[in-house]
Amino acid sequence: MKIGINGVGIAGPTLAYWLREYGHEPVLFENADRLRTEGYVVDFWGLGYNVAERMGIIGDLRAKATEQERLSFVDRHGKEIAHLDTGKVREQWNGRFVTVPRGAICQAVFDACGEVRAEFGVHIAGIEERADGVEAVLSDSRTERFDAIVGADGLHSAIRELVFGPSSQFEHFLDAYVAAYRGSDYPHVNPGWYVAHSIENRWAARIQRFDGVTVILLVFRAGLLDHEPRHDEVKAALRQVYDGMGWEVPEMLGYLDEGPLYFDRVSQIRMPAWSKGHVTLVGDAAACPSLLAGEGTGLAMTEAYVLAGELHAAGGDVALAFRRHEEKLSAFVAGEQKGALIFRSFFAPSSRLGVAARNLITRLAALPGSRRSSLGAQSHPSRSRIIGLAPRPLGNLVGGLPATARLSTGREACYFSHRSPCCSL
Ligand SMILES: Cc1cc2nc3c(=O)[nH]c(=O)nc-3n(C[C@H](O)[C@H](O)[C@H](O)COP(=O)(O)OP(=O)(O)OC[C@H]3O[C@@H](n4cnc5c(N)ncnc54)[C@H](O)[C@@H]3O)c2cc1C
Repeated sequence: MKIGINGVGIAGPTLAYWLREYGHEPVLFENADRLRTEGYVVDFWGLGYNVAERMGIIGDLRAKATEQERLSFVDRHGKEIAHLDTGKVREQWNGRFVTVPRGAICQAVFDACGEVRAEFGVHIAGIEERADGVEAVLSDSRTERFDAIVGADGLHSAIRELVFGPSSQFEHFLDAYVAAYRGSDYPHVNPGWYVAHSIENRWAARIQRFDGVTVILLVFRAGLLDHEPRHDEVKAALRQVYDGMGWEVPEMLGYLDEGPLYFDRVSQIRMPAWSKGHVTLVGDAAACPSLLAGEGTGLAMTEAYVLAGELHAAGGDVALAFRRHEEKLSAFVAGEQKGALIFRSFFAPSSRLGVAARNLITRLAALPGSRRSSLGAQSHPSRSRIIGLAPRPLGNLVGGLPATARLSTGREACYFSHRSPCCSL
């Protein structure tokens, strides 16, 4: 089968890799003129980790990992008021857990694709259904026939818009904005620590990447602004929202001009169906869980892996493959999305009481002997659920591949996403 894939992020090349493994012909299209590899660190574990392991890329990821040891909440003077021992997460997962730039995952997955045809600076701009497949109209006016087209083009998917209509039907704004940017020579460093200062409605944090670059993350409630800032208004809006906040926040704001700035709505995508005709969606395009879920990368890889297997197993019956893919994953992913909403209060509680409660829970979680002290998937306020697939074999999702995996959620980090109106990465 010849499959056109729009988007070379995480899901797209993962799908291409597995389709090629099964003997099919994937073709990747990416509207950026190069692979977008800059990125914030994400925690990467669970099912996605297992898929990555099978692709032989875990060594690459480990080489770019940060050994994250501590999540530290500080007050406006920089004094620690609560912390969690994040190093214990890795122990709980027997080391099958990395904190790594999203871009490193993107690069490793893409490299694994080898000779797969990939076109950068070109995207699928039009789709015409045919009885025996689908015709893509490319952005450079060429047309190309495929057996199926997959939208792997992220939260603001163009394929979704083309096939299902306006995103406003499916995008659920979670009433918060996120910004991320870097400070190359940021003066305050706590290696392996994720340090955060959070007051009502606002969160500011930093973590140092493996290469010494500090990444700054700001998350805040939308109600602090009277309208969503346009591209040219973002920096001023951030300065306004974070004005007067203590700790290192004034210094952090000083780095806004240093380089690329990611800014976006915190949203989920919830769709009644992921496919129509010969077109389907995967990853954030189909079911973005938002940064609140903290497992979007792993989910994107899992969805791509399962989709490739189903396309292969269906022997050319694309509709059957799409149906099976969705049957296997959609309820599970919807559960992930629902659970993620709990973490909105973790980032930006809307009241002082909420902030105090969050900090208290964090302190309790860190107490020696606390059942929560391991910060494991069952215990951390931001990683508090083990999801229903555990410990189901991946082979249950796609026939014939032996492995066991657990999928869990919860992560407060972010990365430089590339699908943002004001992102030049
Ligand atoms: C702030 C933040 C923090 C996060 N933290 C974590 C975390 O800790 N752990 C975790 O697992 N996940 C995390 N995630 C989520 C995770 O990064 C995403 O879920 C994951 O990247 C989704 O992969 P994807 O391939 O579906 O989409 P993306 O990674 O967004 O890739 C989409 C690709 O499509 C391209 N594209 C866009 N439009 C078009 C078009 N019209 N034509 C062609 N190409 C196009 C883009 O340039 C991009 O290359 C976080 C996300 C955010 C925003």
